[in-house]
Amino acid sequence: MKKIVIIGAGASGLFASILCGRAGIKVDLYEQNFKPAKKILVSGNGRCNISNRHLSSSDFFSQNPSFVDFALESFGFEKFEKFCNEIGLFLNVLEDGRAYPLSNEAKSVAKIFEDYAKGLGVVFHTETHVTDIKQLMNDSDALIVATGSRAGEHLGGNSDGEEFAQEFGHTSIAPYPSLVQLHLNSQIAKKMSGVKLNAEVTLILNGVKDISVSGDVLFTNYGVSGFAILDISQAVSSALLGYQAVDISVNLLPAFNMQKLSQHISKVAQNMPTLTILDILVGIIPLKIANGLLEELNISNTIKDKEIHTKLAKRIANLMLNWKFEVEDTHGFRHAEVSGGGIDTNEIDEKTMMSKKQRNLYFVGEVLDVVGRRGGYNFAFAWSSAYLAAKNITH
Ligand SMILES: Cc1cc2nc3c(=O)[nH]c(=O)nc-3n(C[C@H](O)[C@H](O)[C@H](O)COP(=O)(O)OP(=O)(O)OC[C@H]3O[C@@H](n4cnc5c(N)ncnc54)[C@H](O)[C@@H]3O)c2cc1C
Repeated sequence: MKKIVIIGAGASGLFASILCGRAGIKVDLYEQNFKPAKKILVSGNGRCNISNRHLSSSDFFSQNPSFVDFALESFGFEKFEKFCNEIGLFLNVLEDGRAYPLSNEAKSVAKIFEDYAKGLGVVFHTETHVTDIKQLMNDSDALIVATGSRAGEHLGGNSDGEEFAQEFGHTSIAPYPSLVQLHLNSQIAKKMSGVKLNAEVTLILNGVKDISVSGDVLFTNYGVSGFAILDISQAVSSALLGYQAVDISVNLLPAFNMQKLSQHISKVAQNMPTLTILDILVGIIPLKIANGLLEELNISNTIKDKEIHTKLAKRIANLMLNWKFEVEDTHGFRHAEVSGGGIDTNEIDEKTMMSKKQRNLYFVGEVLDVVGRRGGYNFAFAWSSAYLAAKNITH
């Protein structure tokens, strides 16, 4: 009977263990944590955005962008949904393609996967931190490294997988936190902590405008968080790694244009001469933001009436629509959902996930230099890469 070892009982390791266990292979699954699947349990704010109906290589970032193509074609969303249905895990697919367990609870996913694997005879070695990969390799027919990335260190995130790979002569693309909050070099931003708004955020690299994303922006005591920030963070983080000057420009009111906004401010000032500029602004934006904006422009918040002239209204409107902040850093691996970089995929066979340097050694999931956008893509790659490795082992 074939015997394999899997290191890491996260998304990809658990899934590979199930597919190998179903084929009648003896599987030893090693996990350093007390419980498997810690990241599944916290994913999607406890709801687990388990995959996405619309998968393509453009949803992923890697030094080798086409690496994911074969995996996504071989085990795309339909096959994954079919597998979930077979094991009794029903999915709810939203209009935009994001899929969640029908129960809306991540614990359903972790429990069903773990119970099913155990039922197939997969042997779980929990609270076992693997350090000697060569010994395990010698004692098995194949070994799958599914140790994930450094993201979420408190959940088991580490760089063990890259270190294991190095023992076999692999190289790594420098890792960087992704889907992560950002630190801003602005005391004023910190004073706006706690305020959340729907904004448009534009990335500025070395002074040149880059991508823009829309969504929630939450000011915090270190900088900014929120979905729009997470969505832009991959590009920010990789640019910081490359020593580029990174700024973001926040448009607080994407539905307005400069002219409309400045005219509105001037008109209210004219019609309501007793209102201060702060009174006028709180009719448009949250109080903390209004105070921050006036501080940034060095304008007293008590001016009113004719003091609020057209030029000043334009300056205020301009900042509301293009408020530039210098990004100092990300909030780090501990707070990141995922990590970019990882084992260089040029050294991995895209059709099997087997190392090109060592036969019967496989790498799956986030340990590889593949990182997805927000929206279920990171789990999608965990499932499809695990599928290819298991397929090659069990054929
Ligand atoms: C807060 C949060 C929310 C997220 N939400 C989503 C989401 O909604 N949708 C989505 O697609 N993605 C989400 N992700 C990302 C997703 O969780 C990961 O991309 C995915 O879990 C990667 O799977 P993996 O199997 O490669 O690694 P992991 O799931 O991280 O599993 C790796 C396992 O290996 C174990 N391990 C590591 N080293 C060793 C060792 N030496 N010995 C033994 N065991 C070891 C770890 O303890 C861990 O259990 C989220 C991540 C976080 C942190």
